[in-house]
Amino acid sequence: MLLRMSTLFLRTLREDPADAEVPSHRLLVRAGYVRRVAPGIYSWLPLGKIVLENVARIVREEMDRMGAQEVLFPALLPREYYEKTGRWTEYGDTLFRLKDRKKADYLLGPTHEELFTDMVKGEYSSYKDYPVTLYQIQTKYRDEARPRAGILRGREFVMKDSYSFDLDDDGLKRSYEQHRDAYIKIFDRLGMNYKIVFAMSGAMGGSASEEFLAPTPTGEDTFVHCRDCGYAANAEAFVTPAPPAYTGERAAQQVLDTPDTPTIETLVDFVNANHGLGITAADTLKNLVVKVTTPGSDTAETLIIGIPGDREVDFKRLEAALAPGEPAIFEADDFARHPGLVRGYIGPQILADLGIRYLVDPRVVSGTEWVTGANEPGKHAAHVVAGRDFTPDGTIEAAEVRAGDPCPVCGQPLIIDRGIEIGHIFQLGRKYADAAELDALGPDGKPIRITMGSYGVGVSRAVAVIAEQRHDELGLVWPREVAPADVHVVGTGKENQIEVATRIAEELEAAGLRVLLDDRSSASPGVKFKDSELLGIPTVLIVGRGLSQGLAELRDRVGGAREEIPLAEAASRVLAAVQAESA
Ligand code: ATP
Ligand code: MG
Repeated sequence: MLLRMSTLFLRTLREDPADAEVPSHRLLVRAGYVRRVAPGIYSWLPLGKIVLENVARIVREEMDRMGAQEVLFPALLPREYYEKTGRWTEYGDTLFRLKDRKKADYLLGPTHEELFTDMVKGEYSSYKDYPVTLYQIQTKYRDEARPRAGILRGREFVMKDSYSFDLDDDGLKRSYEQHRDAYIKIFDRLGMNYKIVFAMSGAMGGSASEEFLAPTPTGEDTFVHCRDCGYAANAEAFVTPAPPAYTGERAAQQVLDTPDTPTIETLVDFVNANHGLGITAADTLKNLVVKVTTPGSDTAETLIIGIPGDREVDFKRLEAALAPGEPAIFEADDFARHPGLVRGYIGPQILADLGIRYLVDPRVVSGTEWVTGANEPGKHAAHVVAGRDFTPDGTIEAAEVRAGDPCPVCGQPLIIDRGIEIGHIFQLGRKYADAAELDALGPDGKPIRITMGSYGVGVSRAVAVIAEQRHDELGLVWPREVAPADVHVVGTGKENQIEVATRIAEELEAAGLRVLLDDRSSASPGVKFKDSELLGIPTVLIVGRGLSQGLAELRDRVGGAREEIPLAEAASRVLAAVQAESA
């Protein structure tokens, strides 16, 4: 491959795009890799397309190596498939829906469990056919609420999704482990820094699920990890260790006058100063009212969440815990419709009578006592005991996780970081096989329900994540396997530098390298150097002022080293640099 910049469809930008929040977005646009069409919708220019294909090729090679077989589904899908599994409604506003000329409902596929299941059901019938793993690299559509950072969170994006089909749980575990190994190889080859964390397995039962997260301060996923035992989990999947239940005696409930105590701090100060208590915010129980809608239904359930007063509700954890239900804050007019709920003074003591579901933080175990609302304006109650004065309907993981909280495995203080999800592996189980009645005929003639796994890699997102992790103040710094070229040969000057550069570039191409050649006669050396730094090809060879002394300059964009070398050795030195890295 030899790309000549004199004709290459590329215009780099000197200015940052106005809407760029993160370095990867800024640099990919400035370096002419992608261009915005609409929010979360981007076009790929020639260099960007090469990088995207390089990522896809690495993913494809590792999927093929693990024995998965590539297929390709349409993005435009009829409603029926998603109706059967309930996802036509469950997906809510994230699903792009459209109608054909006969007014039949269609969607643009956000993920393809339904289609893979149906395809396997159509082709396979005997236990002898299984196991099988299929994958595709394909464009997905999700009307994300907050498309962000260019291709990092798109509304149209490229994903590798694969699905394993096994006869039993052991088979599923094997398929899962194979994917885990393949993902490790993929992300290592992509030159990414990443962490494997426990993830939510959702409403489908306790089967295993892990995410591959690229740690970056601009990431949207919060995860916790333990330096001592290696435990790592997405904040949504973090399970709060519950203290043991308390079975001793407790004082009787006591209602306290607490005027002008709108916040937890003012309440704690007031009851300590005026009622002789010695409590902290962690001894108060605050109650948050939410209304929860289930996609497809227009009524909302009123739900109250009780958490210790020293913690905030983490809305993402709350959403994950209630999914596919969607919580929203209770507004003034909602309170108006529930006169039993005294805003600011709600306590769980009356919720059973009001018929309102009450879920508590796992720390609110039986026998714990709390200062909480007394369900009267200006009044709170002390010594309100769980299991005696109120009985929760269950627990919920809705409270924030904080740095220093105890590790659920070893008890040591946890660390909190942010990351971007680059991959997800998930033991789905039989949800989709049940919906499609996907069975294999067993050796005894009886049907065996198939069990599935689903596994995703964000292919277009990976381009942004690599850029996010691999850049400096001058521009991008691609790892060689994904770089748009192995070497950037730059000819600068008024003599025959461009001719010599072209000759070396052709020689390198003939030796099998992918070469980008700056043979523009109109651009100044300064512009060419800036572009070369911005574009981020790992090895740069400059044929410039030194030509008359028979010298060229070899630059390592990754390590930053610069060296004057004899022109006669230029090609062999570039080859050596490329081969040293691929070895
Ligand atoms: P996120 O939490 O970031 O929205 P997700 O949980 O919705 O991701 P999956 O449904 O598991 O993601 O999709 C598999 C992979 O596809 C993700 O690991 C991610 O790398 C990628 N991906 C998901 N949504 C997007 C998007 N909007 N833009 C680009 N890539 C995405
Ligand atoms: Mg998502």
